Amino acid sequence: MSIKMDELLKNEFGFNEIETKTLDGYENENYRIKTGSDQYIFKTYQYIDNDELLALVKAENETLLFLQKTPNKNYPKPIPFLDGSFIKILTIDGEKKICRMLTFLDGEFLGDIKPTKHLFESFGIFLAETDIKLQKLSNYTIKAREQVWDIQYLDLNKKFINDIPNAKDRNIVNYFFQQFEEIVRPELPYLRKQIIHNDANEWNVLSKNGEVTGFIDFGDLAHSLLINELAIAITYACYDKENPLEWASVILKSYHSKLPIKENEIKVLYYLIAARLSISVCNSAHSRKISPENTYASVSEKSGWNMLYRWLSISPIEAENTFKEAIGLRIENPKTIDEVAEKRNQHISSILSLSYNEPIYMVRSAFQYMYDAYGNTFLDAYNNIPHVGHSHPKVVAAGQQQMAKLNTNTRYLYDQLAEYAEKLLSKFPASLNKVYFVNSGSAASDLAIRIAKIHTRNKKIMVMEHGYHGHTQTATDISDYKFNNPKGQGQKDFILKTQIPDTYRGKYTSNVKNAGEKYAQEAITLIENSDLAIAAFISEPIVGCAGQVPLADGYLKDVYPAIRKQGGVCISDEVQTGFGRLGDYFWGFEAHNVVPDMVIIGKPMANGHPMGAVICTDEIAESFSKGVEFFSSFGGNPVSCAVAKSVLEVIEDEKLQENAKTVGDFYKSLFFELQKKYNCIGDIRGGGLFLGMEIIKENSIEPNVKLAHHIKNELRNRNILISTDGPFDSVIKTKPALCFTKEDAKKVVDNIDEVLKLYYNNL
Ligand code: PMP
Repeated sequence: MSIKMDELLKNEFGFNEIETKTLDGYENENYRIKTGSDQYIFKTYQYIDNDELLALVKAENETLLFLQKTPNKNYPKPIPFLDGSFIKILTIDGEKKICRMLTFLDGEFLGDIKPTKHLFESFGIFLAETDIKLQKLSNYTIKAREQVWDIQYLDLNKKFINDIPNAKDRNIVNYFFQQFEEIVRPELPYLRKQIIHNDANEWNVLSKNGEVTGFIDFGDLAHSLLINELAIAITYACYDKENPLEWASVILKSYHSKLPIKENEIKVLYYLIAARLSISVCNSAHSRKISPENTYASVSEKSGWNMLYRWLSISPIEAENTFKEAIGLRIENPKTIDEVAEKRNQHISSILSLSYNEPIYMVRSAFQYMYDAYGNTFLDAYNNIPHVGHSHPKVVAAGQQQMAKLNTNTRYLYDQLAEYAEKLLSKFPASLNKVYFVNSGSAASDLAIRIAKIHTRNKKIMVMEHGYHGHTQTATDISDYKFNNPKGQGQKDFILKTQIPDTYRGKYTSNVKNAGEKYAQEAITLIENSDLAIAAFISEPIVGCAGQVPLADGYLKDVYPAIRKQGGVCISDEVQTGFGRLGDYFWGFEAHNVVPDMVIIGKPMANGHPMGAVICTDEIAESFSKGVEFFSSFGGNPVSCAVAKSVLEVIEDEKLQENAKTVGDFYKSLFFELQKKYNCIGDIRGGGLFLGMEIIKENSIEPNVKLAHHIKNELRNRNILISTDGPFDSVIKTKPALCFTKEDAKKVVDNIDEVLKLYYNNL
């Protein structure tokens, strides 16, 4: 090759005594040429009568020639062939190639040197100076170009998302694609556009003596948003940094000192950076799929993923405020907590409580994070309704798409109802094969009780001590947690309350052999002594409002037959425990080796979209069908069904039940470690990502409510959401979205550790 290449270079450029070296390239072949003290890059591109590529290479050369007009050597300079042209189509090794020669720029790559503030400042300045020069350039080829690496054409990368092997990774990218649509797309017409370099990554930026001195590789030139230039520079300069916002601010500030950035550009910058990271990981995944042996395309992949995940933990509001501060823009003051609370209190009764001594004013969320109005990111270890993660892109898309097509009621035929019913019931034992859709857990428990009464013709309802099933009159009547409250309505005549089979605080503790059977025996006596026959027995498998108390082993196995024997039905309230949260089981009743006659579900079912359901046997449904028509205006509407179906799909795709198991087991083991250090930790219980920890006064089982509240509020001050519950409100409760990670679990437990350490030090 060399001899031929030497000859070609001699004939075409008049070069003598040449040394050539082949370089790595993304799509083309490049050679580094030395002749005497001069160095060049000879670039060749395969030419298959491809006029578009030829036009682009011409446009790139024109840009480089344009940049030479200002006297400096900071950009590669096109070198003419002997005939005066800058681009020629030559035949090399029998192949037609587009060829051109550029000067070689000396310097160290930004990616190879230690970052300093001065280096980043000079980067910002160099970038701004380049963009100022490019402002005056107009080129219709560049303007017409639509390419995957140009953030304004983010959509072109959608076809690569499925090349990302891991479902969770895919959905992080989906999330940022969706946020782009919501936040950036509406702003696009108002953002400045011009020709930009469009690829100021760490291997295209050169430096000398700790300062940026040049840019190379103008192959991605784009007529795009000016702010994309910075978004790209920041992405690659910061994607391996612990504190990307700090480093980004240095570049922004210096860029702004030369070329002022506008407020509407700053507002979208966080999402543009996320978009560029998404483009990078999409293209890495795609390249690996089509040519697994080519590692060149994947160099930035690991840092890209790290930063995408880190980016989620940074509130977009914090990012915007930091960027604004860096360039001296005024940060808008959001309403104060008092103002927001005052407005709420004007029309919302004080009977609706707020969490924490200091309430939180939430504005956005993503997966396991919630963002408040002041730029704080909260790790959400408490809210189980966003089951697959806050603002999950698949769930959001399902709702948006169906809402744009059809939303109606069950008196018309549409596919979504039957499709979801089939998918949902496939998760249940075969005997549970009819479903009624409603809009809340309360509506579900209310309906379940009505159906049970109609089916059995009995009047009494047996309920669990401390149980909670909702806010309607019937739901309140069957909820000891409500009716037994000092301010509650009291126990109604038709209610039979059974003591909770709690092996920590109850009559039979875990030291007692067969505690579950003993509790069951007492319940059976209650059933047998009931004045009237019992229509239904309703309980959760782990009683949430009791402070995550699992029913003792063997309890339901004995109680269910006793209820059925006297003509009643057994209802499992899976509003909290269902949909894989427990890790080992998809439904909580499975842990007790029983199959209920009816199940009620709600909360996580549609990830926060209001939906609930009653599931029952054919036989029960048959009895109910003999009565008046059942109709719920919203129950089972196509939008709700589409949303709920997407939740089941995400649970499967992202293997979230398995995640609940592995992360939950790890989380629980950390709590057990903590228990060894502090005597104030009593019982630790629950399963999967549904856990509770009793806070007690030392050497007793007396609840330590004050300390439990202290932990909860201190965690809130450390931006971790958790809550307390139980009859004394002394149980720390955690039930995060199933996308919770081991790192998140460790963060929660480490923080509780610190809170307790400080608490005991200050006693
Ligand atoms: N059952 C249980 C076990 C619950 O936890 C709840 C809500 N906390 C309900 C029923 C009632 O659900 P909703 O608030 O959707 O009416």
